[in-house]
Amino acid sequence: MAETERQILRLEGKRASGGLVVGPAHLLGDIIVRDQTPAGTSDDEISKLRSAIATASEALETLAGTSGDMGGEILGFQIALLEDDALIEPAVAEIEAGASAAKGWRDALDEQIADYDASDDDYFRARAEDLTDLRDRVLSILTGADFGDGGMPDGAVLIGRELTPSRFLAVDWHRAGGLALAGGSPSSHVAMLARARGLAMAVGLGDGISALHSGEPVVLDADAGRVISGLGQDALEQARRDVAARARQAEDAKRLLPLPATTRSGQRVITTVNVDDPASLSEVPVGHSDGIGLTRTEFLFHDRADLPDEEEQAAVYRRLLDWADGRPVTIRTLDAGGDKPIPGLTLDGEGNPFLGLRGLRLSLARSDVFEVQLRALARVSVHGNLKIMFPMVTAPWELDRARELMEAALAAVSKEGVTVGEPAIGMMVEVPAAAIEIERFDADFFSIGSNDLIQYVTASSRDSAEVSDLYDPLNPAVLRLITRIADHGLKTGKEVSVCGDMAAEATTLKALLDCGVRSVSMGYAALAQAKATIADYVTEP
Ligand code: PEP
Ligand code: MG
Repeated sequence: MAETERQILRLEGKRASGGLVVGPAHLLGDIIVRDQTPAGTSDDEISKLRSAIATASEALETLAGTSGDMGGEILGFQIALLEDDALIEPAVAEIEAGASAAKGWRDALDEQIADYDASDDDYFRARAEDLTDLRDRVLSILTGADFGDGGMPDGAVLIGRELTPSRFLAVDWHRAGGLALAGGSPSSHVAMLARARGLAMAVGLGDGISALHSGEPVVLDADAGRVISGLGQDALEQARRDVAARARQAEDAKRLLPLPATTRSGQRVITTVNVDDPASLSEVPVGHSDGIGLTRTEFLFHDRADLPDEEEQAAVYRRLLDWADGRPVTIRTLDAGGDKPIPGLTLDGEGNPFLGLRGLRLSLARSDVFEVQLRALARVSVHGNLKIMFPMVTAPWELDRARELMEAALAAVSKEGVTVGEPAIGMMVEVPAAAIEIERFDADFFSIGSNDLIQYVTASSRDSAEVSDLYDPLNPAVLRLITRIADHGLKTGKEVSVCGDMAAEATTLKALLDCGVRSVSMGYAALAQAKATIADYVTEP
């Protein structure tokens, strides 16, 4: 017993997406791990590194041949970087001073990644991601640790230092059990992606993750933000029973999916889904929700060299309306900027991008791009229950201007002979100035963006691990503003919904109901549990 106790390792971090998982650890290639002592002479280690680089280069060449124009360009850039001696020299110097090939490579690349990351220029910051990919690809060859999810056993808990959204999206999460990161933040985009998939995820676990081994059984208690390894058979069996009990409870909650959400006292709560990627709707039966409460149209603008034209956008919006079959479909106009840069569109080198030209501010500044989106929306407006929503509204005149532009787009499209509808015009409430003076905004409906509202009210960046304790959805100042907006909805008869992540977790959802919110929107993965939370909630009849 004492022996077992000594081997137990408990890593404490933060919850990013709830859940409990028991599964084999699977170390991603970005962890350098025990391989700190060189196995051979420094000459052996240097040739090991050179041969790993050559293998990585060949693999990239092969991949470039099958990745289309844009993928090929990115990979071509990575190959050129790998062949540049300037990249390798600092690693060689460290190996000559006694480090292993893996440690020399990791330290040299980390330093360069940090330099790129610190740049004011979006272009250079984006290059940090290329270098991170290269670092991990070569490390995986040197250490045998996995670069992606290849070789991952089913139900594995993936362990890494950080994960970029692009690498997150490359993993087959249907097969994985959960994700545990040394760094990261609960309000990062990767954490949002994990919540949208209902994937258990803990962050901020620290360097202790280096002590974990691929294949050893670990417990990821993402609710508590904790990873435990080294448990004996009895404890593991108990954890597996807990997992099974939760799975039964989640299965139970699924029975509520086809039903309208009502509180225990019979009060109806509108529950809609957030759409970050229309492809995900193929797994969502339309009858499970009251429609779409938020479409993040940023997905149309990512990972491409050009901007989507009117045809392409209209086709995607039409698909959403067809899917919803008459239910409301809320489409938010482009919310670029802040943590969502779009090369060629958002400003480079803004000192404080979250307070800069983002959301509707950017759309109004780039009316050429905005007009394409508004015309595409106008063209599909007759084909269902379309609601158009503007992000980051701060002053009433911005909303008025956006409404005018929308009306102009409807008139122009109609003049061209296309029948148009009369879409409702609404706004996100995510800036304190709008929340405090909500009466001054002439919107048909309001949707509270709690992710941003919390960061602006608490002055705590949503993507910073360091201030994540202050980024508190239950801060009374946040709840007071939400209550104020809900009251405004009650007085005016206008819908007030919440589409930020507060709607997706039981504790914060209850707090929203306490504030008087009766319409919530979230990723589909959270819907069953949300309906169960609502069904358990007692309201005044
Ligand atoms: C929000 O801020 O809560 C929101 C829903 O918008 P996003 O997360 O896309 O900024
Ligand atoms: Mg927002």
